[in-house]
Amino acid sequence: METVISEASREALAWAKTLIEKGEVVAFHTETVYGLGADARSDEAVRRIFELKGRPADNPLIVHVHKDYDISALTDKMPSYAEKLLAAFCPGPLTMVFPSTGKASKYVSCGLNTLAVRVPSSRTAQAFLRAVDLPIAAPSANVSKHISPVTARHVYEDFKGKIPLILDGGACAGGIESTVLDCTGKIPQILRAGLVTREMIASVAGDCGVYKMAEGERPKSPGMAYKHYSPRCKTAYVSVGDYERAEKLYSEETVSDGRPVILCEHSLTAEFAGYETLDLGDSPEEMAHNLYDCLHRGEEGYTLIIAVEPKGRGGVMDGVLNRLTRACRGE
Ligand code: AMP
Ligand code: MG
Repeated sequence: METVISEASREALAWAKTLIEKGEVVAFHTETVYGLGADARSDEAVRRIFELKGRPADNPLIVHVHKDYDISALTDKMPSYAEKLLAAFCPGPLTMVFPSTGKASKYVSCGLNTLAVRVPSSRTAQAFLRAVDLPIAAPSANVSKHISPVTARHVYEDFKGKIPLILDGGACAGGIESTVLDCTGKIPQILRAGLVTREMIASVAGDCGVYKMAEGERPKSPGMAYKHYSPRCKTAYVSVGDYERAEKLYSEETVSDGRPVILCEHSLTAEFAGYETLDLGDSPEEMAHNLYDCLHRGEEGYTLIIAVEPKGRGGVMDGVLNRLTRACRGE
């Protein structure tokens, strides 16, 4: 099968609609990372996503809908804080988990009685979702456990010859996956950190918890239990300030004929002058935007990525550090 990369032209959208109606899978740009989408109502189409990704059968998918889609058809018992959050942050990089009405395929939620829903803001995603006018189940468009894709080329590298169409909207502005928020309780609870932060949610909903998995417990968001975002080269993780260790790892890799690179925030690139570096940028938003692109460049050009922990904490940095440690600290 040839894999076509196309912007969301009228012809490409008409083709995407035909493909989705036939139960096929289409990759599309969103403002977080690229998604691998299929008709959320169809058991077969949803199972095809799992098969293509090699995704564990207990890791549920997010359902994506356009701005004017009636979410109440998919979800039950929306608390009043959720309506406020929808008004404040949707469309955008926020996924909300609600009790499910059972309208989506059972394979979307992997047996949970909840459903995760998101309204992406990207123009390409909206054009695609409007063209199909269906709920689209979509995880990130990477082979399971590989780095999430933030360009159409990243998707192509993982799925060339396996999917017919990638709707190209350029580089993803956000750069890390959406915040996942459990909206089934009295107060909302963050299951996965992202660009919509706890502070932002609490300012609208009045309060916001952060879910921490207790030892031995079945995770509330099964994806959290899996190793994620792994580059195909070796990785190392160095704590804030431990720059000697970064230099030692670098020279050991060089001595054994490897090609190491240091991945660090912009202010540290001067500290590592004379070393090969990948620059994460300055602000938390820049770091989120650059992180996966840096990891892709790292695995393509080097044998070892030495990630140096950024200093910032809280807000968007929670999401950045979560992804960086899971990619480079082997978690
Ligand atoms: P990905 O599509 O790769 O961004 O992963 C989707 C994330 O959403 C995973 O971490 C899932 O565990 C989480 N998720 C999807 N549906 C649910 C749900 N019903 N309840 C809790 N978490 C969910
Ligand atoms: Mg993913």
